[in-house]
Amino acid sequence: MLTTISDAINKIFENLPHLNDEVINIEHALGRVLSQDIISNINMPPFDKSAVDGYAVLIEDTPGNLHIKETVQAGSVPKQDLSKGEATLIMTGAPIPTGTEAVVMREYTKEEKEYVEILKKAKPKDNIAYMGEDIKKGDVVIEKGTIIKISDISLLATLGIRRVKVKKLPVVSIMVTGSELIEPGEENIKDGYIYNANGYSLRGACKELGIEPIYLGIIKDNIEAAVSGLTESENGGDITLISGGVSMGDYDYVEDAIKKWGGKIIFHRVAIKPGKPFLFARKNSHIVFGMPGNPVSVMVEFWKFIHPAILKMQGVKNVFPIKIPALFKGTYKKKSDRPHYIGVKLVKEGKTVYATHVKSNGSADVPAFNKSEGMIEVPQEVTQLNDGENVEVMLLSLPKRENER
Ligand code: AMP
Ligand code: MG
Repeated sequence: MLTTISDAINKIFENLPHLNDEVINIEHALGRVLSQDIISNINMPPFDKSAVDGYAVLIEDTPGNLHIKETVQAGSVPKQDLSKGEATLIMTGAPIPTGTEAVVMREYTKEEKEYVEILKKAKPKDNIAYMGEDIKKGDVVIEKGTIIKISDISLLATLGIRRVKVKKLPVVSIMVTGSELIEPGEENIKDGYIYNANGYSLRGACKELGIEPIYLGIIKDNIEAAVSGLTESENGGDITLISGGVSMGDYDYVEDAIKKWGGKIIFHRVAIKPGKPFLFARKNSHIVFGMPGNPVSVMVEFWKFIHPAILKMQGVKNVFPIKIPALFKGTYKKKSDRPHYIGVKLVKEGKTVYATHVKSNGSADVPAFNKSEGMIEVPQEVTQLNDGENVEVMLLSLPKRENER
């Protein structure tokens, strides 16, 4: 029996290792997940301030000719209150003098020695940013479970916060199995040998999550080598990623190796194409993802199961990528065997986004997958996807860019 995709996701989520918290500086926090609510300790703005370079005035004095009382730069404070017949020259961001009803932009004034002519009628509160109008002291400004983005870092800094509590990243080890594998960069490739793609795509996929994985390299196709790889990975590690050796071949011994090492198989074989032989196991708090060796299966499974699992582990609430509506271009036929994940390119014509099917020769066709900008799930029962049908596209990696402003 094949496990369904949603059962597989549930079982993975039920067995995630616990991660501790750590406190880090905000300049290192991009992509990390907050394990505390951020509460503002200050009001923003911290005082009533001017939003422009201009003159602080009373409404009834405008328009009119006023005596310039003083000049206040950003970073200093007014020395005197404002009274009738007076204006204070004030710079953007500086605190306004007590009594100010509006600030008139310098562009609407004419200055002459110690006098200024205000050329227009001011409206109450014009160009004043009031204390606490953006954020009040005590407000929750960023919630626990947020993946820290650049504007969060800007906000934290704005509030004077330098250190934040985040989840530790999991320690991940990668091993690729296959006696036929050699590392890219090596020359003199012999007959029957192939270059190891998965060792590199998986390391990149971890890097995208901020994780610097431990690369255990190529493991020969025998149980002992796999058991010793698992033992090495278990030591202080949270997750092992294995590629190859989980299918039905004579040398597919990864399941046996996991059992021998003392791990429990939670599921093996999922109703998904590509990547049916997918395996998930656990020993104590250490989890193992075993993917088939074909490179496209590895990328689809990382993105579909492992990426959300690593976010979930860190306490993120919404772990699945948003799906973008599009119109399908092309036709796709399949048996009603399993859900299929197929690659698409995104083409925009006018205001319509088309998801053009990228034809693929299967789970070893890395060039076709590489041309894809997103994926569509074709459900199990669907046998044909027609031209012009509404679909939802899951974007792969960075958002698509276009040559138009
Ligand atoms: P397996 O799942 O071990 O039966 O491997 C399935 C296919 O994927 C075989 O053709 C392997 O040679 C190929 N393969 C296995 N590991 C890798 C790898 N790390 N990089 C690229 N191809 C691989
Ligand atoms: Mg193999």
